[in-house]
Amino acid sequence: MFYHSTRGGGGKITAAEAIATGLSSDGGLYLPESLPWVSLNEIERLASEPYSGRAAAILGLFLDDFTSEELNDYTREAYSAPGFDQAQIAPGFDQAQIAPGFDQAQIAPGFDQAQIASGFDHPQIAPLHRLDSSTHFLELWHGPTSAFKDMALQMLPRLMIASLRKTNETRDVCILVATSGDTGKAALEGFCDVAGTKIMVFYPRDGVSDVQKLQMITQKGANVNVVAVEGNFDDAQTGVKSIFSDEAFNAELDVRGCFLSSANSINWGRLVPQIAYYVSAYCDLLTSGAIKLGESINFCVPTGNFGNILAGYYAMKIGLPIKKLICASNKNDVLADFIETGVYDKNRPFYTTASPSMDILVSSNLERLLFELSGKDGGAIAAYMSDLSKTGRYAVPSDVRDAITGMFASGRCSEAETASTIDGVFREHGYLIDTHTAVAYKALRDYRADTGDGSPTVVVSTASPFKFSDSVLSALGYELSGNGMDSVNRLADETGCGVPAPLRDLHMRAPRFTDSVPKDEMKNAVQRFIDVSNR
Ligand SMILES: *Cc1c(COP(=O)(O)O)cnc(C)c1O
Repeated sequence: MFYHSTRGGGGKITAAEAIATGLSSDGGLYLPESLPWVSLNEIERLASEPYSGRAAAILGLFLDDFTSEELNDYTREAYSAPGFDQAQIAPGFDQAQIAPGFDQAQIAPGFDQAQIASGFDHPQIAPLHRLDSSTHFLELWHGPTSAFKDMALQMLPRLMIASLRKTNETRDVCILVATSGDTGKAALEGFCDVAGTKIMVFYPRDGVSDVQKLQMITQKGANVNVVAVEGNFDDAQTGVKSIFSDEAFNAELDVRGCFLSSANSINWGRLVPQIAYYVSAYCDLLTSGAIKLGESINFCVPTGNFGNILAGYYAMKIGLPIKKLICASNKNDVLADFIETGVYDKNRPFYTTASPSMDILVSSNLERLLFELSGKDGGAIAAYMSDLSKTGRYAVPSDVRDAITGMFASGRCSEAETASTIDGVFREHGYLIDTHTAVAYKALRDYRADTGDGSPTVVVSTASPFKFSDSVLSALGYELSGNGMDSVNRLADETGCGVPAPLRDLHMRAPRFTDSVPKDEMKNAVQRFIDVSNR
């Protein structure tokens, strides 16, 4: 299987080459030339596999220059739950045993903290939580940084190192990341002290939660750097993209024995591991008897950069029975507007919300969807993207719009609704959700009311509520006092829910990275980091 760029240039390359380089030289994103197919029989077979086996099978469909032995090794390492006995990981493992309110400290007595940080704290890796007979939450935040980015970023470094080997690359790779909060920490955790790699993360100085910031600025590792950008996420992302396309700068790095790559969801190696959890959720619904083989379900996804929901689209395209993908936006509802009107228009105010990982006006991965739906016409995509950078907007023709509304629905959620949804779900069901997940659940309720579609639906739950403790506490009606870490403990006290291990001792770690730079100084910051780390 070969990969090509959404903008028509760059030629055909292998999966390993696409992962090693991240972004195509024509500015486009890589995607597979043709798509594989998973039969219902295969899905049924995967239902009897643990998460790592399901993920290896899905990865193997797309990464055919990797052996199944390699992929099985990587997924077993990436998706491990070291505190749990293998026998318990078996499918059919009783959900009730690991119900909400479950105290982490009870998981395994005498169990070493350091071990938790390198694995998942749930034997099923990506478990479903049943809310009612037609609604389940897919909890993607049991990894080392308590947000869904771990699902991909525990895998990507392994895929990246193997890809460098397969492409005979001898230079070091320097991973540049622009983060709206969660990607940065998950990438740092994934690449920390991985030989042959360096990683530099840019985050918007005033755009991340206290916990997110603490997680990043206390990161350990000799090959890492973290810098705040004086701007918002789009400024950070635009800065990183322009560094990638700066030929003179890339030539300088080459002389220094180094090249740039990406751990953002523009890298195909980030996307493909995400397809696996859509399939896995379907398998778990089958195993629990909530659905029958072949029955169509919906997924409702809190969306920012369109990476997560795009993985859902690919899951649908390779044969998973999905009826609708519901794209949920917060107050920054550029995507909901686009799905409804076919016009993408980023000329609008940017809001800082309680769901910061969705505070995005330029959703990079939409480009892949448009390419798939525009007859794979790279020229058309290049024209949209050029309109976007010149005028801040583009409009797609009606056939593309119809294709989108055939598969996607949209929804939105205000700040007040985010809070009332968290409160309502907790009071009614005793289930604590974070701000991003609340945006999705609110969008799902509206979708059901508008369409009458009662299909079984999986709400993709993207972060632990403890990652956004301040917002969750105030949603539950508590007055805030003190800093972000006080809120973490207070949220645990007030709700009886256990704090995930990786967030428990954050306040005891000393900050290592306190620099901030204006947005036009990002390139110099990269240069300084590479010079210092090469010494
Ligand atoms: C990154 C993130 C999102 C948005 O995901 P995209 O792939 O960018 O659409 C939603 N919720 C949380 C908690 C995130 O970290």
